[in-house]
Amino acid sequence: MSAAIPPGFEHAELDWDENGQPQSRRYGDVYFSRGSGMAETTHVFLQPNRLAERFAALQAGERLVIGETGFGTGLSFLCAWALFERTAPANSALHFVSVEKHPLTRDDLGRALTLWPELQLQARQLLDQYVAVNPGFQQFRFGQVTLTLLVGDAFDQLKELDAQVDAWFLDGFAPPKNPDMWQPELFEQVARLSAPGATLATFSSAGSVRRALKEAGFEIKRIPGFGQKWENLQGHLAASPKTLESPWFARPSPQPTQRKAMIIGAGLAGCASAASLAARGWQVTLLERHDDVAREGSGNPQGVLYLKLSAHGTALSQLVASGFGYTRRLLQNLQQGQDWDACGVLQLAFDNKESARQAALSDAFPPSLLRAVQREEAEQLAGVALDHGGLFYPDAGWAHPPALCRWLIMHPAIELLRHQHPVELRRAGEQWQALIGDELLAEAPVVILAGAADAARFSQSAWLPLKRIRGQITALTVTERSSELRTVLCAKGYVAPPREGQHTLGASFNFAETDPAPSAAEHHSNLEMLAEISADLHQRLEADTVDIDQLHGRVAFRCTSPDYLPIIGALADPARFAEAYAVLAKDARQVPDTPCPWLDGLYVNTAHGSRGLITAPLSGELLAAWLNDEPLPVPRAIAEACHPNRFLLRKLIRRID
Ligand code: SAM
Repeated sequence: MSAAIPPGFEHAELDWDENGQPQSRRYGDVYFSRGSGMAETTHVFLQPNRLAERFAALQAGERLVIGETGFGTGLSFLCAWALFERTAPANSALHFVSVEKHPLTRDDLGRALTLWPELQLQARQLLDQYVAVNPGFQQFRFGQVTLTLLVGDAFDQLKELDAQVDAWFLDGFAPPKNPDMWQPELFEQVARLSAPGATLATFSSAGSVRRALKEAGFEIKRIPGFGQKWENLQGHLAASPKTLESPWFARPSPQPTQRKAMIIGAGLAGCASAASLAARGWQVTLLERHDDVAREGSGNPQGVLYLKLSAHGTALSQLVASGFGYTRRLLQNLQQGQDWDACGVLQLAFDNKESARQAALSDAFPPSLLRAVQREEAEQLAGVALDHGGLFYPDAGWAHPPALCRWLIMHPAIELLRHQHPVELRRAGEQWQALIGDELLAEAPVVILAGAADAARFSQSAWLPLKRIRGQITALTVTERSSELRTVLCAKGYVAPPREGQHTLGASFNFAETDPAPSAAEHHSNLEMLAEISADLHQRLEADTVDIDQLHGRVAFRCTSPDYLPIIGALADPARFAEAYAVLAKDARQVPDTPCPWLDGLYVNTAHGSRGLITAPLSGELLAAWLNDEPLPVPRAIAEACHPNRFLLRKLIRRID
């Protein structure tokens, strides 16, 4: 798998002229016209793509997808968003996918956007959410408007994208100043990602750009330019290139006409799925067998935004980098200090193997995401004495997962339905029915199984390879001296700064034990972990003299899959799958054109392990993207790596049981 992390990632470096207009030091070019950036954007991008007219023509539930090269200051995005708000019907949507190699820092973005008082409403929302903008796919939600920002080189990122773009803004500095970007391979990607009849506009009129676009399948014409500029280009896709897609990872079709879903399980995965669907106009019934949301794996008082990254750009690492950004942006909506805190996370280099792993990570990721710190600096950051330095993640911290769950389901289109007995699922015509005995609890054409390992409790999903791993946390009462802990500390376990007078210390890993009650033995091993994290903190918490039998804690069961990736997507019938693709057992390179035998409308979102806080919120967006035929919020390869059918395929190809 290719790494989405661009080597040598760097933010934009700007020079500001006397009128407060930014210019790129790296490319020696302006971000927009010195005269009037907004008027230029309208003339060069919005009008040639006929956006006012196309937004106004959107029907209920429809969306328009814009693709852009060069997000820059976000001016074009904000102009498109403002126009969408003025012209589109209320229940339609705009999805803006943009790629940016050198994102502006948040301070620079704030400074640039003060130039446009007319766009302040949108600019404020963008700025509020402009945190944790790290390499790779970064998803943002603003009501009916979604922004998928691909941070990295345009060609590298677009080749990972799965989208059908309706209108393109080809920006990216003048070709003579940025020849590396304006290459035929980029336009091939633009064509591959275009919906039939997609339009495009660019400020460039270079002959090489015109010829390469024609070569890629666009019909191009010259139109009058803006201001001093003589001409621009406008075009539309004349022919759609056919891409060969494996049927087992195809988007299930036809999509249900009734936008109504039933979600089973109100932990983070279920609540996030509900939020992402409700934001897209779906009616959602969320079924929960406990008396409230977040009563199992998502119920700990403090979850840590712990990023388990790999320097090799594995699927999990890419998912974690994207998921972290998305969760971190959602947390901006919650009450800091009470529901979450961006206090930073320090991963300690507690042995040689971990030190080597960390050295590779600090070379592979930008310092805005993580940086190596020596012991002295680590101690200053943490406020307690430590034996080791480590990696510091300044934007990370802890969150109270139940608060995030409650925030996610605040949408009026989400109904929380509590029930005491387990439900059964039955397909009746076009509907899935949730039943307790003969009693019909709810029905909908789409059902999402989001109850951790219970997702495999149904006859239709019993084959899912889910494992439960017991984890116990210990709640430690804050002492005067422990309250000085300022950042989350992680080694083999973690300990967080206080919330409501307690530190959360965790968590044990126990594959064998299934008892849901906290045990003294695991409190004891948690305290040993604390001593390894920081003997000083152990002492400040008077952990030596604590009466283990008096300690409070909580047990939850993590749910994981054999490859430790979550399972997100549509479910197929395993027996019919094996029959349809039996040829793969003989030749794994075959791509039969037999459609996948989907169990129509049945989806799953589970196996987030101990990192649900990072991956579950984004998984809601991924599921909603599959269900609404939208651009995927993660690279196609990552979506496939998380797809339930990966296990059915492996079973056929490698005969794994
Ligand atoms: N549309 C932007 C706006 O509204 O502010 C202006 C874009 S500015 C003229 C060009 C942008 O393209 C810069 O932000 C630059 O960093 C980005 N860029 C240049 N080369 C790139 C590449 N190879 N891949 C992705 N982005 C690139």
